[in-house]
Amino acid sequence: MEIIRTVSEMKAKAAAWKAEGLSIGLVPTMGFLHEGHRSLVKRAVSDNDRAVVSIFVNPIQFGVNEDFDRYPRDLKKDADMCAEAGADVIFNPSEQEMYPAGFCSYTDMALVTEGLCGARRPGHFRGVCTVVMKLLNIAAPDRAYFGQKDAQQLAVIKRMTRDFNMDVEITGMPIVREADGLAMSSRNTYLSGDERAAALYINKALSEALRIFRDGDADIQQIKRHIETTLSGLPSVKIDYVEIVDAETMQAIQTLDRSALCAVAAYVGKTRLIDNVVLEV
Ligand code: AMP
Repeated sequence: MEIIRTVSEMKAKAAAWKAEGLSIGLVPTMGFLHEGHRSLVKRAVSDNDRAVVSIFVNPIQFGVNEDFDRYPRDLKKDADMCAEAGADVIFNPSEQEMYPAGFCSYTDMALVTEGLCGARRPGHFRGVCTVVMKLLNIAAPDRAYFGQKDAQQLAVIKRMTRDFNMDVEITGMPIVREADGLAMSSRNTYLSGDERAAALYINKALSEALRIFRDGDADIQQIKRHIETTLSGLPSVKIDYVEIVDAETMQAIQTLDRSALCAVAAYVGKTRLIDNVVLEV
């Protein structure tokens, strides 16, 4: 497995593969990889002739008071995981390489980015769309893989690639959880023991929401209230949002007459965590 650090080398590698008629799969990540990332890499390896994992902590998707500076990094461990999972290349550019002096073009999007994390993290999806657009142009994949863990991001990227007529197939992959149900996240490393125990209630509340939904006749407000009540009883947890939205457009809905996303964002101590379940109609 090779580690490539420049855009020109990554483009040359992708072009050479294409010339040989090989298909390419891309897994965009910010590194500090865990089993959730590994599931994406394995899928990219099995679906394609060549698999690229990008590792880039993208500064423009972080807000001013967010954790860009302390976001965890461990390239050596990431490289071992990628090699073991069968990846061919890690693309690990510097900030300077991705955003050289004079850089001033951004990809933005309406509607799908308006609620949930888009509303709470101004500029976040502008940063995400811009970096993903660049990564897709650089690695020229036939397929790219994203986790349902970041459900709004997945919806945004599906919409963006459709709206811009991009020749890439976007595949969403299920949320990988710890044995006790906590959704895997690079940010879980910030949690103290007590915070981790409290964080478990996010998944517990969502699992109960799913059960209530499957039992029938609960409405959106009841389901949301149930989650809010579960989480608001925990002193170290502060709800950022509890929302039930259309699973594709991420727009608010009034009744559960179509597949919906039930999504939670909450601060556990200082750490902001997100998780979700799909309420399938
Ligand atoms: P990140 O490094 O956090 O930007 O995530 C890179 C990709 O991995 C994104 O598409 C995430 O949705 C996906 N991902 C992160 N955590 C998980 C998880 N627990 N299960 C499945 N996919 C995940």
